[in-house]
Amino acid sequence: MSESATTAAATSTVRVIDQKEALRSEIDRARQAGRVIGFVPTMGALHEGHVSLVQAACRECDFVVVSIYVNPTQFGPNEDFNKYPRTLEADLAALANCQVDVVFAPTSREMYPDGFGTYVEPAGAALSLEGERRPGHFRGVATIVLKLFEQVRPDVAYFGRKDYQQSLVVRQMVRDLDLPVKIVVCPTVRESDGLALSSRNRYLSTDERRQATVLYRSLQLAGELVDAGERDAGVIVEQMRKLWGEQLLVAEDYIAVVDPDTLAPMERIEHPAVVAVAARLGTTRLIDNDVIGSWLPARGESKT
Ligand code: AMP
Repeated sequence: MSESATTAAATSTVRVIDQKEALRSEIDRARQAGRVIGFVPTMGALHEGHVSLVQAACRECDFVVVSIYVNPTQFGPNEDFNKYPRTLEADLAALANCQVDVVFAPTSREMYPDGFGTYVEPAGAALSLEGERRPGHFRGVATIVLKLFEQVRPDVAYFGRKDYQQSLVVRQMVRDLDLPVKIVVCPTVRESDGLALSSRNRYLSTDERRQATVLYRSLQLAGELVDAGERDAGVIVEQMRKLWGEQLLVAEDYIAVVDPDTLAPMERIEHPAVVAVAARLGTTRLIDNDVIGSWLPARGESKT
């Protein structure tokens, strides 16, 4: 890959680097110039959700690095690593109107050279939900994020709320390993019908795409039930499930009402909760989440 690329649609040139050494010297130069370094890690197939993170980084930092790397260690053996979309040219076009300084698009040989054998094993928030369904997933995520943090040494790194559990795992790693980086979590960007943007949405057939809106509709229903006074998480899950039951192409992986900090299951909703959902539509797996009862007192606060 060339170190500098301009796409046909691009209005600005993005510097594309695929070697750690070249990245390091570029970043050293920026740091010596006193720039605040912002970082957005992605797996590419960029959409408006990714772009919103990049825009936040560009607003708040003076040197922005976006990584594009489909990380093999966070995919299970039966997951979609091989078919995961790799669309570098389109990704560069998607970033053309952002003031990105460097796109880091390393090869797997660069990230996991022969003999690689050290991994980060997150516990706590990493163990339930996605961690339970996708063994090793957060180990792969934490390992690659730590490596990228070491390579980029960002002052601020941006993640999406869409992957809520991932953001908790990253925050925990930053705390546990004393990493000198601030984590910013940005809101989920959605289609006009509520479906959260995801690189995996492109796998959906027309019928699956139509039925996929039930994820968001059920999250909204959960919020409305809490707003109307329902406090029993079991009742809320049951109502959500009923809605899902009407969509024959949507198979539940989980619907969970959990504590926003620990992801421990909640039975009574007396403080804000996160509803996290995962579904299969054919061979595609989608996740989403939302906060419900955000107006309730935070855990540990009195109601008055
Ligand atoms: P990925 O390329 O799927 O690894 O995602 C890269 C980053 O973009 C992660 O921090 C995701 O949480 C974030 N992201 C993915 N989809 C969305 C979305 N719809 N809205 C906001 N952020 C997102």
